[in-house]
Amino acid sequence: MSYQALYRVWRPQRFSEVVGQQLVVTTLKNAIITNQISHAYLFAGPRGTGKTSAAKIFAKAVNCHHKQDGEPCNQCATCTAITNGQLADVIEIDAASNNGVEQIRDIRDKVKYAPTEADYKVYIIDEVHMLSTGAFNALLKTLEEPPANVIFILATTEPHKIPLTIISRVQRFDFHRISAQDAFNRMKEILDSKQLEYEEKALWVIANAAEGGMRDALSILDQVLSFSKNRVELADALLVTGSVTKQLLKEYFLQVAGGESAAALATMGKVLAQGKDGQRFIEDLIAFIRDVLLYQESPALVTVAATGLSEDDFAQLAQAASAHRLYSMIDTLNEVQEEMRFTTHPDVYLEVLTVRLSQLKASAADPVVAKLQEEVAQLQQQVTQLQQRPAVVQPAPAPAGPNPAPRRTAAKPAGNHGSFRLNLKAVYQVLDHATRADLTKLQDLWGDALSLLDNAQTSLLSLSKPVAASPDGVVISYGSGFLLEKAAGGNLTESLAKALEQVSGSARTVAVVPTERWPKIRQDFLTARGYPKKESSAPSPTPQSAAPAQPKPAADPLVAAAEQLFGADGVTVEDN
Ligand SMILES: [Zn+2]
Repeated sequence: MSYQALYRVWRPQRFSEVVGQQLVVTTLKNAIITNQISHAYLFAGPRGTGKTSAAKIFAKAVNCHHKQDGEPCNQCATCTAITNGQLADVIEIDAASNNGVEQIRDIRDKVKYAPTEADYKVYIIDEVHMLSTGAFNALLKTLEEPPANVIFILATTEPHKIPLTIISRVQRFDFHRISAQDAFNRMKEILDSKQLEYEEKALWVIANAAEGGMRDALSILDQVLSFSKNRVELADALLVTGSVTKQLLKEYFLQVAGGESAAALATMGKVLAQGKDGQRFIEDLIAFIRDVLLYQESPALVTVAATGLSEDDFAQLAQAASAHRLYSMIDTLNEVQEEMRFTTHPDVYLEVLTVRLSQLKASAADPVVAKLQEEVAQLQQQVTQLQQRPAVVQPAPAPAGPNPAPRRTAAKPAGNHGSFRLNLKAVYQVLDHATRADLTKLQDLWGDALSLLDNAQTSLLSLSKPVAASPDGVVISYGSGFLLEKAAGGNLTESLAKALEQVSGSARTVAVVPTERWPKIRQDFLTARGYPKKESSAPSPTPQSAAPAQPKPAADPLVAAAEQLFGADGVTVEDN
């Protein structure tokens, strides 16, 4: 007989069995009891928190003819078939593997047929954020005109990646991380019913390591059980959960608290080598420092057994830094966490972070400080350089490989030009083939392209517009250096290139320029290409509104050339 994983055997079959999501399941149950069923739901939340389980229970509850108090009976033919995944009217789609437009079009074609066996046809689309833009658009069409007796349940770990147009048409439910206490209780319940022995401390270690995912908790418990011959022991739990990480965090914390930035950088490398990503590392560190703070306040506030560390560890940690310093650390961590959301190079931010944390304690008189400050300046400069790099992106970029940052460059920070470095070559490449017709076309399609981006991206682009275009390129002006910096740091340019390709039907490189520098860039380009130079062509800081623009006689060949490339309304800007 084959072994069945705990999380499968113990998958909740009734709303009341879904752990740690009281509000969500009560609301869903009430919807069923009062028969107020929406045609589309979004279940959002971290992995392993019961989203797809709740979706299947909901599918059963709406279709079960013997339901009681909003719960499915789990006995009738319909319930059994849904539990076993054998009811044709309940369709589970994993968008992570079916991300094509085709699959969703397939839904569109079939959705209009009435359910064959059950009362409601239920589509459960897991990891829905993985759908392509085209697939989202196809889905949107279906959600706009929902056929009768069809329910969509969209599940996602990353709701921010779902277009607002979809979000506005669904009822949203947020699933929360499961508390260590809830995970602990559930494991206890399962082990008791299986009559297995366990050390409670071991369960705490597992509950904590699962980090809010019930499925993860049960998977770890499975591993520990196989390891320990059906007895759950602390030593094995520690081994399986890799509480090594906790030890490394402790080491890292003590190092930054002691101002040893080099050692701390090495430790951080070890943590990341275990496969943790940068955001996770920061989250873990915040939780860790919060525990230390609580322990300082009163050891009774921390369930030490649940942290994977010992009382001795905590006693040592609590001595290492003042409460004031701990708060500063958390502030710094929050700041960096926020900044990191826009970068494709988190490792550099983490290095800056480590140096900043190490620096917090050192007093200004300390000779080490000067050196550290220099290091920070250099690292921050690297961040800036990295942010500039993706300023020009091919529409179909190769996945960015591991691109180690240059270490410790000795260069001084670049002058006062802000941190955005213009890629003039890329801009000129577009300008060399720019036509008015291409620009007009892209200006017309601009709104459509923006509507394909997510909310955050659209807001970054709110002050931007295409200012020149060729058949295979476009120059975008950005409202401010700040936005440009953010945009260049993330994958916005890339997304924009994709969106433009989608609406215009042809691939284009995207080059970006700051709005305030565009008139000068354009003028320089025309001059460089041999158009007559104007007498007063020096770049003027005078804003457009300062003086009414003098219309040039159309005979001016420079104006004529500019008009041909960029359209008449663009030309007035460069007149002083
Ligand atoms: Zn039933």
